[in-house]
Amino acid sequence: MLQQTTVKTVLPRYEEFLKSFPDLKSLAAASEESVLKAWAGLGYYRRAKALREAAIKIGDVHGGVFPDRFEDVMALPGVGRYTAGAVTSIAFGGPYPVVDGNVERVFSRLFAMRGKLKTQALTGKMWTLAEELLARTAPGDWNQALMELGATVCLPVNPRCRICPVSPYCAARLEGAPEAYPENGARQPIQDIRLETLYIERAGRILLWKRGDDERFLKGHWGFPESRHVRARPGKTIKTVRHSIMSHRITLSLREATLRRAPPEGRVRWAARARLKDYLVSSLWLKCLPEFWKPRRQ
Ligand code: SF4
Repeated sequence: MLQQTTVKTVLPRYEEFLKSFPDLKSLAAASEESVLKAWAGLGYYRRAKALREAAIKIGDVHGGVFPDRFEDVMALPGVGRYTAGAVTSIAFGGPYPVVDGNVERVFSRLFAMRGKLKTQALTGKMWTLAEELLARTAPGDWNQALMELGATVCLPVNPRCRICPVSPYCAARLEGAPEAYPENGARQPIQDIRLETLYIERAGRILLWKRGDDERFLKGHWGFPESRHVRARPGKTIKTVRHSIMSHRITLSLREATLRRAPPEGRVRWAARARLKDYLVSSLWLKCLPEFWKPRRQ
């Protein structure tokens, strides 16, 4: 939950999530839709899907008990080297390092490491260093200390070198320019995308489309159909919203439309207006809601 989201935003959502899914069993038994709904507004929905899939795998493969071997944790859906290292070292005392953005900043300054972040060469060096430096007697404490040092002392701007416990050894501080490290890698270019979506109403119910796994984003989500999904005659534009998902800047228009051909069974649902919020959980759709969901014929 904390990926790209602040602790303040996450805390109440975390509590709510645990109320809905207090253990692996309840998460594994839940429908994907209900888990996505509990995740509504947090973005990066593939994390929620992976979390549920991991709970299912733990039930199927590990008898419902969270595995303590690094390789088994790595094999869970949605888990990479960082998460596997953090979980096995902190929860089970396993001798595995972590490298996140904070650790990268501390290492690049401590050792005055040149090179752009997120490149294979520098990432490889960071992990090798993390392996070599790991305090094997207390790997969980070590990893947390390193991440905290980056989060609270070795700040991106105005690092607090005067109170830093490793300042005597810090090459960047000795050079006198700690902020020159790390060199930022090239940012992913922003892609502009235009989506034309359709508002199709029949007998007071609205047509919703389940987005497939082949979609670029919001896989497995219910939404308004795009014009490429159904055969329909579009009418006037009801609303245009702008929204960002990862490196995509989306301009979405919602147009009234009438169906020209029955849509494929199984991909669609006719939802009552009052139930739309149960289906349309992404903030992309919620942006359409405030004015749009006031009854139009009062
Ligand atoms: S001395 Fe300064 S730059 Fe070096 S690790 Fe500590 S806070 Fe970061």
